[in-house]
Amino acid sequence: DNVAWSELPVERVYDYFAQATSLESVLRAFGELKAKLGVEELRGLELFGALREKLCTQKTWKARDALQLLEKRANQQEYMGQKAAEGVKVLIVGGGPVGLRLAIDCLLLGCDVRVIEKRPSFSRNNVLHLWPFTIEDLRQLGAKKFCGKFCAGAIDHICIRSLQCILLKISLLLGLSFHAGVEFLQVLEPNADTGWRAKLNPSDHFLNQFEFDVLVGADGRRSTVPGFDRKELRGKLALAITANFVNYFTREEVAVDEISGVAFIFNQKFFKELKADTGIDLENIVYYKDDTHYFVMTAKKYSLLKKGVLVADLPDTRDLLHPSNINKEELYEYAVDAAGWSTELPQLDFALNHYDEPDVALFDFTSIFQAEYAARALKRRGRDLILCVVGDALLEPFWPTGTGLGRGFLSAQDTAWMIRGLGQGRNMSELLCEREVISQQLPQTTPEKLQNNIKTYTINPFTRYCNLQLRKLPVQSVKHLYDTDTIGTSPALQRGSFKMKSSAGSSSSNKENRAPTPSSLSSPSIPVPSLSPSRRPLAEGSVNLAYYSEPANKMSLPNPSVLLQWANTHIHGYGIRVNDLTTSWSDGLALCALIHGFHPEFSPEFPQLTPADPILNNRRAFSVAEESFGISPLLRPEEMETPDKITLLTYLSLFHEFFSDTEP
Ligand code: FAD
Repeated sequence: DNVAWSELPVERVYDYFAQATSLESVLRAFGELKAKLGVEELRGLELFGALREKLCTQKTWKARDALQLLEKRANQQEYMGQKAAEGVKVLIVGGGPVGLRLAIDCLLLGCDVRVIEKRPSFSRNNVLHLWPFTIEDLRQLGAKKFCGKFCAGAIDHICIRSLQCILLKISLLLGLSFHAGVEFLQVLEPNADTGWRAKLNPSDHFLNQFEFDVLVGADGRRSTVPGFDRKELRGKLALAITANFVNYFTREEVAVDEISGVAFIFNQKFFKELKADTGIDLENIVYYKDDTHYFVMTAKKYSLLKKGVLVADLPDTRDLLHPSNINKEELYEYAVDAAGWSTELPQLDFALNHYDEPDVALFDFTSIFQAEYAARALKRRGRDLILCVVGDALLEPFWPTGTGLGRGFLSAQDTAWMIRGLGQGRNMSELLCEREVISQQLPQTTPEKLQNNIKTYTINPFTRYCNLQLRKLPVQSVKHLYDTDTIGTSPALQRGSFKMKSSAGSSSSNKENRAPTPSSLSSPSIPVPSLSPSRRPLAEGSVNLAYYSEPANKMSLPNPSVLLQWANTHIHGYGIRVNDLTTSWSDGLALCALIHGFHPEFSPEFPQLTPADPILNNRRAFSVAEESFGISPLLRPEEMETPDKITLLTYLSLFHEFFSDTEP
């Protein structure tokens, strides 16, 4: 507050910005920097461009170094010169590390991005473990330019608020609009005059009028973005204590070793001695030295009861951990004793949390929640909205094992890849399908299971995951994730609202960067899809084959004449007509024409086929239908000479269902 901003040269204002350590001071210094440069009105890429122009001088070399790193990142081919998702409007709910990391990728893709954060400040002292790729990622983005001690030496952790400050600075330089103290309440459907919007608190905030195409829940474990069922992964009772003590940075403190994760099974002697000396019984403990001395430990319930931390042994964990059942003084003493015994730190004074109280907390980790799916889409009044969840909102981590940020960053990059697909006009169902397949990797992902060369990671999931196979989910399987009000149609293959760009990075010129679509790689052994799939969540931990398990004989088949009329409407352009559900289809040309009419990209050679080789024609049609749409053949090509009427009706009705919403 005492800084005489107007008297400072621009390089000093930038220094304030780069060194700021709180949300308020980052925003304040950045506002002053923009004012000094006369770019207050700019945002997004225009701002990034203006900053590059004005700050890349000898005097402002610190800013120049940081901006050059960002420019290098911006030049990654996936971002297509910031045209990849140009015009896509994104609202990110939550300014935690994952929301801010996603904002960076969205900005680099050329999106119009807003981040809202309900808290007015960054206040979390707790320390996050960083996987090697997250360290590399943050280094490449210039983290060290904003926090000199970032991951110095062998350090592989950072406190949450420092990380938020680093990511905020990077995203501000890229042109982010960040709004603190703004809470997401509800998503509002389009009306005749407006697109998708959000109801926010405060209700008079101008962002209430912001219309968006993508809404991302990066709002942590209790996500408020609607429509994401959550499944509970319940383990044995796990009660964790986090505690932060003031780091005075004395020589004695520096000499104390960190504990980067000791679990009972690996070091029983340690825990037995701790118990013998203090009566504290733990299952694991982590100690990181950062801005604070940070501890997270999993305590056995009986030991918390015995020590008086928990007043009564109550069966429901919510009651057990209710503030009325926790003796705070005993909790503080428990944390001090455990921390002191484990590290022999000379002085343990509690750091304060944002309520100005000792920063100690007791959490229940018995249940970890995971969203049933990572993304879904809505269509109302012809307007698409993609809703996604990332970070803790998608997959809650078990803090003592430190998986939160690694998987959180992966989910942010995967989501950015999906948004890129939207910008490229990729098919909505394919996008949802691909997102599901990728997100199913997440719970099993560890640093060891990722690609070795962390320097070459990009938002393209193939650069990060090993053995990623997008073949298992036919696009039909995500139908329940695309909820549309379009009457009489189903949404399976509707195009996204964004068309292919003809500029530098058109989809055809960038084929090598693009992941194969699920449909083009689908498995040959997919059972027959149901005709009327209900809105069922994905099967836990696996691909959604259960979704297809309804036997074909339960299907309600369409009227044959309706089916024939429908088929004729779509194949007459090929000079073909069908009159029955048997021999009209024998030479395979009608089926090939039907497929080509809807999806020429999967069958470019079909118009050249002739009746000379009916078996080959039918084999090709069956194969494209199975590989691209998940429709398994019910007949052999040889049987098409005189096909069984009911079997053919059943088979064709699957196409009718599948293509019913698609404009050829
Ligand atoms: P978060 O970091 O939880 O960020 C979500 C953000 O969304 C928050 O800033 C929140 O204020 C905001 N938000 C929520 N609802 C709304 C809304 N309706 N509108 C606008 N904004 C909203 N991990 C560890 O490994 N070790 C720890 O000790 C540890 N301690 C934690 C302590 C707390 C209190 C919390 C909440 C999380 C902790 N975590 C810890 C988890 C870790 O912080 C996350 O894994 C990591 O920060 C990545 O999460 P994220 O960005 O997805 O979500």
